[in-house]
Amino acid sequence: MSASFACIAGEEICRQWNTGRIAGERIGPRGTPFGSSGEIYLIESEEHEMYLLPRHGLGLSKTAPRRINSRANLYALKDLGVQAVLAWGPGGAVTHNIAVGDLVILDDLIDRTYLRDKTFFEDKPLGFLRQFPVFCPTLRRVLAEVLHEMKLVYHATGTAAVCEGPRLETPAEIRMLATVGAEVVTHTFVPEAFLAKELQMCYAALCYVVNYAETGSRHRPLAVGDLFGGLTQASDADRLAGAVGAMSRIAANVAAALPEHAPACECAVSMAGNVREFDLPDDWRKWFE
Ligand SMILES: [Zn+2]
Repeated sequence: MSASFACIAGEEICRQWNTGRIAGERIGPRGTPFGSSGEIYLIESEEHEMYLLPRHGLGLSKTAPRRINSRANLYALKDLGVQAVLAWGPGGAVTHNIAVGDLVILDDLIDRTYLRDKTFFEDKPLGFLRQFPVFCPTLRRVLAEVLHEMKLVYHATGTAAVCEGPRLETPAEIRMLATVGAEVVTHTFVPEAFLAKELQMCYAALCYVVNYAETGSRHRPLAVGDLFGGLTQASDADRLAGAVGAMSRIAANVAAALPEHAPACECAVSMAGNVREFDLPDDWRKWFE
């Protein structure tokens, strides 16, 4: 069996497929021209099938955001026949209309990272791609319908500032990000969103809000040892657990709903300009040779 849909997610969410180990057939890691991908699992049920890729790995082998080999991860999924990727990641609320436990379907990014490999084409003029729409509109629409039907609290749009990490942001940085239009702050989704475009894949990002960042009106005093150093408090925990706890069902419902939606997006031809201008071969694997 194989699947055309994949979910890239963090460890805490991947645990839901089982306790500690992921149920499903282990497919990877897989070798690529860009190194070895993370572990990949094939999840199957009567209603759907999908690949699952724990972005950070599991347990002691967890990888820091800037060390994740996103190029190998996306390449491996594409090589398996994946056309659409739903990415999950945590974020902090920068604006006051977003609360811990909310889900945000991102529609734009502010890239503040500087240590990551953001293109497959370091030595070729093929990475000169327009970043609009940033995320796949078809996948975003399916996702919104699924969240609506599941009666979850979500925002249909949102701009994420993606910072390098691993440290969290300072109060001044959060104030700055707010003034330039960021609504959530995260360390995830870059460079995945850009790389997916270079592979002509549909990619959508769902951010689950885990703290209030260092926003003034929601200022939380430092609490050493607590979650995010006290940024997330016990009163937030139930809402957060609800959002995280719904993840495997959300992914399964999106996987089941996708075949019913004809793509109304241009993701599958996002490299068409390069294909024409540089006479690239039909086999996308040869673009990297
Ligand atoms: Zn698409």
